[in-house]
Amino acid sequence: MEEYLKQALEIVKAQASVRTMTEEEITSMVQKIATGIQAIAEGTPTTEEEPMACEPNKAIREKSVICCVCGKSFKILTKKHLASHDLTPVEYREKFGYKKNTPLVCKSLQRERRKKMKEMQLWKKRGKKK
Ligand SMILES: [Zn+2]
Repeated sequence: MEEYLKQALEIVKAQASVRTMTEEEITSMVQKIATGIQAIAEGTPTTEEEPMACEPNKAIREKSVICCVCGKSFKILTKKHLASHDLTPVEYREKFGYKKNTPLVCKSLQRERRKKMKEMQLWKKRGKKK
């Protein structure tokens, strides 16, 4: 790390000679640059990329729904599976910022379900008419 700090200091010194910087600015800049140089040198990205699985919007896909806890994909995120993470569906939705009524089901199944519900309602209506 020392090596990176030295390199960072050189960069910041150059910056500080061009424009006025507060001590705080200099310190935080040195830290930032040092971490950046270290990351590049060691081949790790500076900002940790958030895994796809944890983006609730992207977790529910056409043919699969991804468990934000373990990253596995399912057709339906069951209570039983969530229980294996010590979560209830309600807690799960809260934890990952889903709306309360978000179905934890892949989109194609959601559509199928809706269709079935509609059909059922139609059947009910027909039944009433008789
Ligand atoms: Zn899981």
